[in-house]
Amino acid sequence: MMRTFSLRINGRGNAWPILIGQHHPFYDLRGAPDYANASHSILEREGEGKIVKDILIDAGHGIVPFLLRHGNRIPDALLITHPHFDHTLGMDWIIQSYYRFRKKKYPVYATKGCYEQILRTMPHLGELCAFTELSYGKPVRVREAGEGMTVTAFPVYHGVHARAAAMLLVEIVPAGPRVLFTGDVLVPMLKKSDIGALHNVDWLVTDANNRFPYPKTNHWSVVRRHPEDGKYMEPWLQELTESLLMAPHNFQNYTNYQYLLDFFRDFPEKEDYIHTVLDFATRIKPRNLLLTHYSGLEDEKYYKDALLDTSGLEKWAQQALNNDQLAVNVKVPETGAVISLGKK
Ligand SMILES: [Zn+2]
Ligand SMILES: [Zn+2]
Repeated sequence: MMRTFSLRINGRGNAWPILIGQHHPFYDLRGAPDYANASHSILEREGEGKIVKDILIDAGHGIVPFLLRHGNRIPDALLITHPHFDHTLGMDWIIQSYYRFRKKKYPVYATKGCYEQILRTMPHLGELCAFTELSYGKPVRVREAGEGMTVTAFPVYHGVHARAAAMLLVEIVPAGPRVLFTGDVLVPMLKKSDIGALHNVDWLVTDANNRFPYPKTNHWSVVRRHPEDGKYMEPWLQELTESLLMAPHNFQNYTNYQYLLDFFRDFPEKEDYIHTVLDFATRIKPRNLLLTHYSGLEDEKYYKDALLDTSGLEKWAQQALNNDQLAVNVKVPETGAVISLGKK
């Protein structure tokens, strides 16, 4: 039987997408609940029919109501980008559900530093998880996926407290679709050969907290060009050092340590680091770009630039990429959207 793959948007919010008591034009409270944090599923179906596998990427606030309302099916495994609550807080409910139904430990894939940090905040999960460590740059098979699927972690800097934060490349192998989930990131730390290998990735799914730089949020921006951007970029570039980028990563693990050394060898000058979604897209030329995790609050506060709604952000981002002659299709998805990734 032919298998089809799709990418489902389970949520698209940043941390606390709407503060209780407030309103935000991006998040519609009138329709279906739209408050889950950025979370995605790679779904595998038999033909066009029922879902046979659901591999979940990140599980923050709101993922549980989303899953209950969209098929009420426990995902088969969980891949985590980094240990912030808006990417992990739903783990408890998902893992407890699985354990009580199946009397089995729940498969979790993450870097070691990320997993340790999760257990520090939710220690009881240690007993209930079957953990697989992701080392930087090494593809790992996701055993619970029906067809061949691998996940590869690459280090990112997302603030000193985001322990061993990573972007995750999910590939249907051999020769199937490739989707790169950046998770939250301020500075990607990929070595040159990996940037080369990511060329023409099918989907780049990335965090767009703000359109313009405000590095104090520990998130990158979509673009850098704004007459005012130096005010916020210059102090950050001065404070940016190798040891700062290294701080959240795992020094004990040799594989990871070597990867970081290779990154600094490839990019000895901090001027060459990637600082925006546009920079990254220019280097890897994804076929499609998906923006999630939008807040815009810093654009409003520091750049006096309005908050956008879904289509406003999509139009603006498409224009920004077109201005650089980047033939990349930009999409700002609605929660619940299902995007076809093709057949195998
Ligand atoms: Zn986040
Ligand atoms: Zn985060």
